[in-house]
Amino acid sequence: MISINLAKQIIFQKTRLIKGVEREGFLQAQGRVLAQDIRTTTDLPAFNRATVDGFAVKSVDLKAQSAKFPKLLKIIGVAEAGCPSKKIIGKGQAIKIMTGGVVPKGADCVAMKEYCRQKGNEVFVGQAVRKGEGIAFKGEDAHKNSLIIEKGNLVTPAIVGLCATLGLPFVKVFGRPKTAILVTGNELLNVTQKLSSGKIRSSNQYSLFTQVKESGGAPILLGIARDDRRALITKIKSGFECDILLISGGVSVGDCDLVPSVLRTLGAKIFFHKVAVQPGKPLLFAKKNKTLIFGLPGNPVSTMVSFHEFVRPCILKMSGRRDFLTKTATAILAEEIKLNPARTKILRGKTLLREGELFVKLSEHQGSGNIISVVKADCLFKVPEGVRKVVKGRKVVVEYLS
Ligand code: AMP
Ligand code: MG
Repeated sequence: MISINLAKQIIFQKTRLIKGVEREGFLQAQGRVLAQDIRTTTDLPAFNRATVDGFAVKSVDLKAQSAKFPKLLKIIGVAEAGCPSKKIIGKGQAIKIMTGGVVPKGADCVAMKEYCRQKGNEVFVGQAVRKGEGIAFKGEDAHKNSLIIEKGNLVTPAIVGLCATLGLPFVKVFGRPKTAILVTGNELLNVTQKLSSGKIRSSNQYSLFTQVKESGGAPILLGIARDDRRALITKIKSGFECDILLISGGVSVGDCDLVPSVLRTLGAKIFFHKVAVQPGKPLLFAKKNKTLIFGLPGNPVSTMVSFHEFVRPCILKMSGRRDFLTKTATAILAEEIKLNPARTKILRGKTLLREGELFVKLSEHQGSGNIISVVKADCLFKVPEGVRKVVKGRKVVVEYLS
């Protein structure tokens, strides 16, 4: 049995970047991974822009003004956003300007409307204005051809906006790893089937489907296979078309756990089987041609937690992501926890903020079959092997689930 860290190392080492890059509309690209850097196509801003409504003026005219000692300036034009004024401002002059307007030549600042009083063609400015005030200067945010965001980042709403700003209707994104999902077990029923003696409705393919999607993979459901060699062989073979194959159930040591031997028969290379972790001990990792195969223990909690711990980083790496750490935080344990020290534990927790401090408690009873413990959890946290008790008040690092 190998450690979590070694298992992750092996998975990481065997995971290659997906082949092929797609050209995607910038709006559709949200949530995809950039396969190109994004550089500015112009200076940003592209012109000296008014950041307030008011009057474009010369700062020398308004060195020591105040409400009591306003200065009277002559208005010689108007510069609305999108409608620049061609006039050049001289001493004693002003151009009325709106936020987003091009600051006219000759002006070096914009006096805010709130401190101005217009009377016909003239304006009283009742405040000193310093050079540069009220202006966002050309290139102030970034110069033309500056690297703004590197490949490997997720396209966020802000990046969608950036693409529009830069006039990039298409961006290159990495392909989504095709991820086949097979659930196995004689006891499994479909969602709409009526429960009968000893049968359960299969949930794992659906939790996995959504986890794969959330991680940026393209999930493909292969259905339910009975614990029967022939059925398994047919279904597993169809999964070899994909980049990743997830098989839930049938990977442990029971008489009906046929997945490891079927994989061997099909010529898959098994890198490891069993990891010193709870839940998730029977985890299996293998490869057939280009397909990476994960055998996930069938208990719903084990399946989801193993996915989060082992499969998610693999999908992220394959999809070209730069960083694939989940969000973590340090939380104070709100209750004492007693544990079986045999293996590293991955516990399901619920965080809560109390008077500005982050606490975490167990989400429910921690049995591997108790799906409610994941439903009510927002994080996972690990307790290393050999620890029998963690006292209340101890700090732990929690890893958020989404
Ligand atoms: P296994 O890993 O096949 O030994 O299954 C372990 C436990 O998980 C058993 O109680 C199974 O009934 C349950 N189980 C297996 N597959 C699923 C599934 N797809 N959905 C829900 N529970 C499952
Ligand atoms: Mg089974």
